[in-house]
Amino acid sequence: MSPPVTRVRSNETLPKSADVVVIGGGIAGTSAAYELAKKGHSVALVEKGHLAGEQSSRNWGWCRQQNRDLRELPLAQRAVEMWNGLNKELGAETGFRRTGLLYVTTKQSDLDLWSNWADRAREYQMHSRMLTAAEAKAMSPGSAENWIGGVHSPTDGRAEPALATPAIAEGARKRGATIHQNCAARGLETEGGKVSAVVTEKGTIRTSAVLCAGGAWSSMFCRHHGIKLPQAGVRSTSFFTEAAPQVIEGGLSMPDLTFRRRLDGGYTVGISGRGLLELTPQGMLYAQQFWRTFKKRRGGLTIRAGRSFFAGPEAISRWSNDGISPFERIRTFDPPAQEELISFALRRLGQLYPQLANVKVAHKYGGLVDFTPDWIPVISGVAALPGFYISTGYSGHGFGIGPAAGRLAADIVANDTPIVDPRPYRYSRMIDGTDLGEPGMM
Ligand SMILES: Cc1cc2nc3c(=O)[nH]c(=O)nc-3n(C[C@H](O)[C@H](O)[C@H](O)COP(=O)(O)OP(=O)(O)OC[C@H]3O[C@@H](n4cnc5c(N)ncnc54)[C@H](O)[C@@H]3O)c2cc1C
Repeated sequence: MSPPVTRVRSNETLPKSADVVVIGGGIAGTSAAYELAKKGHSVALVEKGHLAGEQSSRNWGWCRQQNRDLRELPLAQRAVEMWNGLNKELGAETGFRRTGLLYVTTKQSDLDLWSNWADRAREYQMHSRMLTAAEAKAMSPGSAENWIGGVHSPTDGRAEPALATPAIAEGARKRGATIHQNCAARGLETEGGKVSAVVTEKGTIRTSAVLCAGGAWSSMFCRHHGIKLPQAGVRSTSFFTEAAPQVIEGGLSMPDLTFRRRLDGGYTVGISGRGLLELTPQGMLYAQQFWRTFKKRRGGLTIRAGRSFFAGPEAISRWSNDGISPFERIRTFDPPAQEELISFALRRLGQLYPQLANVKVAHKYGGLVDFTPDWIPVISGVAALPGFYISTGYSGHGFGIGPAAGRLAADIVANDTPIVDPRPYRYSRMIDGTDLGEPGMM
């Protein structure tokens, strides 16, 4: 069952033209629409279901710089600064609070990884604090485990996925953007080899710039236009608890489990390192690009054949722009929670935090996380199709980085000076034989 999200109304009429059309109303597309509108461009945001219906309402709400791939750290740093001012700027609640985030562990290998990261991140003025066993225990009061240490990032925080994207969307509308839900983009039209329009199920919008921010569906949309985008989805399971005693203000990561306090007094609980990989035609198409990452990270993955082979973002589908597209067939991709993981997490929560042993589950849900081979997003133009831009592949950590990713995408589309070096996010790395390195995200 989908987690709750604030609903936003749609604009009544689809514009005949716009400076920019943004496809996908998750945090990536909505933040880009907001930033483009702030720059004075006319923007139409089209979403096949409702805003934040997919990953952007299903995530844990962690807004972190801690333990990020260093290639992405400057963007994450800008994002946290932006989150800090966003409630005021929007005049609306995103749920962001700079609570800090805490990681504790019983494994020396975790401490070694974090400490190595903290050393390297100092070059970026990122000051995480390694914790002794006693400090880790003191910062996670009520935990029953004897941690051997941890790491704390005081400048990180958490926001509410149910509120943030809708609040940013209303901010975009105030600045002139229009929002169109239940409005799938079926494809593009081109003139002279350049983008000239977007065809949606509700009509055509003439434009010379399109940003594809379709989350797990982006690769399918690109494939419709002969553009290769290696992307792979992994299903994860999470749940909301009902309101429960406060044991932590921000987010806490422990072996097997993470949880974070929500504004309504409940917790969002995630099961770390466990996911379901369904075999799909798209998965087979890009298997080679993902092989190295897969070998490194396959512990915790359950692999199986399932319905995703025939329906969903990774099925092979063909359609024409004047017929129903796969995007209209699945308005919101809402995979079920894996019950065995929910039982495991409840048991573990009770062991680690006896105070939360009898906490009730309020919502349980699945979510499809879209990965790129190097776990870094693509935020970039596509040289083969002038006027076509991509912002996708956030690889399980795009919510916290969302506001700055939206700004970077807007800078690139508008040809303005980018807020950070855009090279790590360039699309061409996916197709020009670049060594993508190891994913540095933890
Ligand atoms: C369980 C879970 C936990 C996570 N935890 C965190 C976390 O704590 N911190 C963090 O930073 N990140 C986290 N993430 C990752 C984060 O949620 C995503 O990286 C981020 O939300 C991606 O945003 P997006 O806008 O790219 O994609 P989405 O939110 O998936 O949005 C894409 C949208 O595009 C729409 N769309 C697709 N194709 C079309 C089309 N043709 N026409 C119109 N609309 C279309 C879809 O309907 C969808 O609404 C988590 C993810 C999951 C699933």
